[in-house]
Amino acid sequence: MATASIATAAMCLAPRRLLADDISPVIKIRKAAATAEIKVTKLRGNVSVLEGSGGNIAVLIGRDGKLLVDAGITATRKGITEALASLSADPIKHLIDSHWHFDHTDGNEWLHSEGAEITAHENTLRHLSVDTRVEGWNFTFPASPAGALPTKLFADELKLEVNGADLVLKYYLPAHTDSDISVHFTDVDIIHVADTFWNGVYPFIDYSTGGSIDGSIRAAEANVARVTDKTIIISGHGPVGNKAQLIAFREMLVTIREKVGALKKQGRSLKEVQAAKPTAGFDAEWGRWVIDGPTFTSLVYAGV
Ligand SMILES: [Zn+2]
Repeated sequence: MATASIATAAMCLAPRRLLADDISPVIKIRKAAATAEIKVTKLRGNVSVLEGSGGNIAVLIGRDGKLLVDAGITATRKGITEALASLSADPIKHLIDSHWHFDHTDGNEWLHSEGAEITAHENTLRHLSVDTRVEGWNFTFPASPAGALPTKLFADELKLEVNGADLVLKYYLPAHTDSDISVHFTDVDIIHVADTFWNGVYPFIDYSTGGSIDGSIRAAEANVARVTDKTIIISGHGPVGNKAQLIAFREMLVTIREKVGALKKQGRSLKEVQAAKPTAGFDAEWGRWVIDGPTFTSLVYAGV
């Protein structure tokens, strides 16, 4: 009986569409990264964003050396190296992991070998240190090598001054995972919000390492409260955004959570809830990328 219910719970957590062809999206994403083009965009002051290898990478240049928020995927090392060189000749000295997921930390080891000290929330180190299974991706990540592990850790908040810029790193509490942090470049008002914001597309939620729909909504609300109309928001995935787009994302999460929650409360199975199409009003806009409406429904269903 216990075994059956654990198996059922695990199946509920698995986004079925992602698993339809039995290839983990992790393998597909790594493969795509080998030929990915890196797009470089200067945002404000000395901060730029690199898009194209896993999650969006923020870069601060200056005399203390380059600081990166997130490391991309190792297969794109050459493209990232060229993109970084196009910004300045400063060496790479600092790396901040926005959370533990591979599409944000895969490049930790090579960036550390170039000279980067790695900073992260303590739960990022915890997950990278051991073999970690993500049911939703149908994949078990082996423990990372020593050079890939963050060595500068914090629990709630950390303030840094790098290249004359003030940075505030803040823990979200469990949201998309239990290791998500924001990195606010306060002087230029640019904030990297990790995977608590997928701009214009349905997000993944990692229940295997502490994520949940309600935690994701709390993080979205914290983000909306923290920014102004002038803040530049670097999402984990999707284009760089603004406050209006952040509000639209929160509304999408809240509306679908209410619909799926009400149907589940009536005793409906995941299949029945998916058949009722609780995401119908959003799919044309939000369901065009990795996670479609039925898959996002399953991620919400698992947490309500
Ligand atoms: Zn993530």
